[in-house]
Amino acid sequence: MMTPFSYSSPQITMQSTSLAEVMAGPAAVKLLLIADSARDTLLATPPFAAVATQIALGQKAPYSLDDSQGLQRVIFMDARPVLDHRLYKQVRSWVGSLAGLKATHLALHLEGFDDEHRAQLARVVLACLLAADVTLPTQKRSEATRPGYQQLQLSPPCELDMARLSAEAEGNGLARHLAVLPASELNARHYRAYARELAQQEGWQWQEFDETTLARMGAGAFLAVARGSADGQAAIVRLSYCPANPVRRVALVGKGICYDSGGYNLKVGGSMYGMHLDMGGSAVALGTLLAISRAKLPVEVHCWLAIAENHIGPQAFRPGEVVTALNGTTIEVVDTDAEGRMVLADALTLAAGDKPDLLIDYATLTGACKRALGSRYSGAFTNRPEWLTTLIALGQQSGERVWPFPLDEDYDDNLDSEWADLLQCAPGASPDHIDAARFLTRFVPAELPWLHLDLSGFRNKGGNGVVGSEVTGFGVRLTLTLLDSPLGMGAPDA
Ligand SMILES: [Zn+2]
Repeated sequence: MMTPFSYSSPQITMQSTSLAEVMAGPAAVKLLLIADSARDTLLATPPFAAVATQIALGQKAPYSLDDSQGLQRVIFMDARPVLDHRLYKQVRSWVGSLAGLKATHLALHLEGFDDEHRAQLARVVLACLLAADVTLPTQKRSEATRPGYQQLQLSPPCELDMARLSAEAEGNGLARHLAVLPASELNARHYRAYARELAQQEGWQWQEFDETTLARMGAGAFLAVARGSADGQAAIVRLSYCPANPVRRVALVGKGICYDSGGYNLKVGGSMYGMHLDMGGSAVALGTLLAISRAKLPVEVHCWLAIAENHIGPQAFRPGEVVTALNGTTIEVVDTDAEGRMVLADALTLAAGDKPDLLIDYATLTGACKRALGSRYSGAFTNRPEWLTTLIALGQQSGERVWPFPLDEDYDDNLDSEWADLLQCAPGASPDHIDAARFLTRFVPAELPWLHLDLSGFRNKGGNGVVGSEVTGFGVRLTLTLLDSPLGMGAPDA
């Protein structure tokens, strides 16, 4: 079986202690964020003489005070910091530099900010600390377990939703945990068993559409991919969180290819390495469900995981085959390595059948998206183009940046098939991330507001947003931010 995910949030306390009291306090590490306006006064006081010297020597922040009271890191910053990628990157680096200290008690003090900016800054720093506190699974015999933070102390008090912060960290932590597990541990069968266990543990409804059921229903797109694996290991799993009196119903759909060899269009060279991460979209959907459920948000969530592996075998699908998807659309297979859109097609049809108010899908779908954006951003496609400006802003705000691509109908020319309703993908040079999104529109009714995230940002060296690890779990925080926004609340003119 696979290594289970466990998370225990450190205790977060708020105190009305002054800067001097914090400095004299018991925390082993103190992170002191000082607004520029308070800088000169502070540097003139004796405890900060060493910082003044470091500045005079031309050293860069954070400045260090290391005395009998522990290690103190001092950072001066704008009194009204802007919540964007620069701030996230800075905070990740401060927090990352503390990781080696193995401190269990950390004090965060903010001096010279107004209430609004203090709260905003505290939220970002705490989120980074919580994300850094998640230990990812490792198979190294020598790896000593890091103690992690037991106590995070914040001063002065500000308006913060601790439960929400902790829920987000846990949801993102789950997504990263599942993603980094090797394919030998997280195979399709183990993944399904884990989803069922988690549902029991969290009190979610659980339903599984196994291969026999899907065959009876006619889910030929999903089954084309599943055919290449050992009998019966693939399934579409539905997990539902149903609070009393929900304000909205949301469907989350994730691509869960536990290993993508490419199938008969076998991946070559180094491009197969790392393909255990191809279930990242489903991990984000599941992590988002966990975060929403832990934060007890008043949103009914149906989470659909399209779990399969893409392999070679006597039954595996081949280019040139025509398969019929669950909604009756016939698809001419072009490239077995474009398996993500196949499993999503039928999962989207199932998800849309519930008539949710909002449908979001997550998938590490195309190399084209990564070539277009790199891995700092993920690609966003929606059938509500009026949302795009807001989506860009929500990306910056959450630290998980998205950039829109067109979803215009005339791209469908790329997917004209001579023999079927639809080509799976365009042979030769084509904007495959856009073609893939157009392909998916065939399985989403136009009246259903839909956001498709092509997760080029799922893995980025140096981390992203509040997360410092290379596997980022991109999407959990963005989705929670979106659900708080007018888009999530279903405002008609959002
Ligand atoms: Zn593939």
